[in-house]
Amino acid sequence: MTNGSISKACTGCQEVQPPSEFHKAANSKDGHRWACKSCCKVSERAYKVKNAVAESKRGKIYRSKHVEDIRIRDKAYRELKQAELDGRAQI
Ligand SMILES: [Zn+2]
Repeated sequence: MTNGSISKACTGCQEVQPPSEFHKAANSKDGHRWACKSCCKVSERAYKVKNAVAESKRGKIYRSKHVEDIRIRDKAYRELKQAELDGRAQI
């Protein structure tokens, strides 16, 4: 018995698969992406390879524009982790 969701065919590999094999997508009618997880992984990797230079440039621009934001975020993360460690040490 299923939990109300039906298997569907992937637009990439054309295989019929259960909903658990599809990433969730809020803007999709059935709440899942059109391509299965493994097809998404393949196309994501292909995109990254194809756009490696542009992606790296984009990352550099982002980091240069958000130096202070990144510093604050990293500091907050470190403090959170330290607090977790301190909390664990007291128990
Ligand atoms: Zn697929």
